[in-house]
Amino acid sequence: MNFLKFLFSARGGGKRGGIRTRFAPSPTGLFHVGSARTALFNFLFARRYGGKFILRIEDTDLERSKSEYEKDFSESIKWLGLNWDEGVEIGGPYAPYRQSQRLDIYKKYIKELFKDGDVFYCFHSKEFLDKEYEEQINVKTNPAHHCEFRKLPFDAAQKRLKHENAIIRFKTPPNLEIVFEDLIRGRISFNSDTLGGDFSLAKALNPKEFSPLYNFAVVIDDFEMKISHVIRGEEHISNTPKQILIQRALNIPAPKYAHLPLILGPDKSKLSKRHGATSMIDYRNMGYLPEALVNYFAFLGWNPGNEREVFSLDELTKSFSLEKVQKSGAIFNMEKLDWFNGYYLRRLSLDELTKRIIPFLEKDGLIRKDFSAQGGPASDWEYIKKIVLLEQPRLKRLCEVGDKAAYFFETPQYRPELLVWRGMLFKEVVTSLNISYEALGKVNESDFNKENLEAVLLKEAERGRGKDKGRLLWPLRAALTGLEASPGPFEILEILGKNESLKRVETAIKKLA
Ligand code: GLU
Repeated sequence: MNFLKFLFSARGGGKRGGIRTRFAPSPTGLFHVGSARTALFNFLFARRYGGKFILRIEDTDLERSKSEYEKDFSESIKWLGLNWDEGVEIGGPYAPYRQSQRLDIYKKYIKELFKDGDVFYCFHSKEFLDKEYEEQINVKTNPAHHCEFRKLPFDAAQKRLKHENAIIRFKTPPNLEIVFEDLIRGRISFNSDTLGGDFSLAKALNPKEFSPLYNFAVVIDDFEMKISHVIRGEEHISNTPKQILIQRALNIPAPKYAHLPLILGPDKSKLSKRHGATSMIDYRNMGYLPEALVNYFAFLGWNPGNEREVFSLDELTKSFSLEKVQKSGAIFNMEKLDWFNGYYLRRLSLDELTKRIIPFLEKDGLIRKDFSAQGGPASDWEYIKKIVLLEQPRLKRLCEVGDKAAYFFETPQYRPELLVWRGMLFKEVVTSLNISYEALGKVNESDFNKENLEAVLLKEAERGRGKDKGRLLWPLRAALTGLEASPGPFEILEILGKNESLKRVETAIKKLA
């Protein structure tokens, strides 16, 4: 280790351009809430200061990285509206942006590290390392691999490499204080003795095959891509001192670091599947709007410093700052997310909301692609719009319409008992439904609207025993919907239309016969 290097200014330092952030996911799983929040904060910080936001794919773990996950990442980021300026798919001045395509670049730097004696080949087998680890755990020492292969001369290592695999490790200096200023947490200090010994930078699978590992590749890419700010999850804090050691060994500048607080479930443990949906695809399938998710995710660790809660992506880019990001864990609160989603759903125009709901109705098998109902009443765009208008005030997720309003598209199935209002006899329910049937039959099709129907039916309902309107309206509403709870019967009658409404009342009467 050339300690003198630590004293000199880093190469390229001071002359680097403006704000450049990156979102650097490993495509080893689905895009989840934590990734979305990290991507968003990087996006907002870059936009706020007129910088660039970069999407880099960290697929050094070739076995676990999958192209379908990468696709899920890029589609989800686009869906959220966090368009990147450079990166996979679109390229840019520092392409390629996928680590598996940057091997030659890493090789150049690893050579330099070998030349300066900062790294070495370790030939310990996995079994040896596992055993060493276990023994250390058993005697309650912090696991660390202080590797004796440090001393093996380079030429001897090269010879061994011809027939043995190796790990390239960094010669971690003993008892060195590594300090960095985190933009969210302030001064953070690590002693190099706590880093687990000589940490790994790459796998050397034979003299030709070379496979970089996370801490090394990330340092090289952040430098090569001129990243000014690394904004990432708190789980990476303990990687930072290792990355700083590599930067110092290569005499390259460190970016500024900002580690975002953990996202916790309501029980204050780290957010996981146990707490419900965590992947973006689930949220999308449930009918959350990207504008609601973005607004909500912004509040997972950040706040504007006042009471305001509703922010569009554009407004966020004007208000966001790292100074207002908290250190403590951010609690993921589903009710709050539902509140945001409901808010944005109600702000959509009826046409826009209808457009977004249609794919959900299709998925539920309630309508075909040409919007005609399957086996139900004649249906078209206007018909669906009326249903959407009816549901909009209570709607929290787009997927709920299919559940709540399926009866508009298919004949409801229910038990006859549902038609019974508070202690009525079946006989009385039949009479009640007959009254409705007759009253509805007398209303002209052109007058079959909520206001008229309400006037006509309420007049009949007033005649009920003890003026109990439920005796007329409950059996009618239940006959129309087959549900315990739904909007009131007048709106439903108008949407279903005269023929279908009469048909359903008739069916209900037959059920009780
Ligand atoms: N690829 C890393 C991950 O997905 C992120 C690395 C970083 O931001 O430094 O966790």
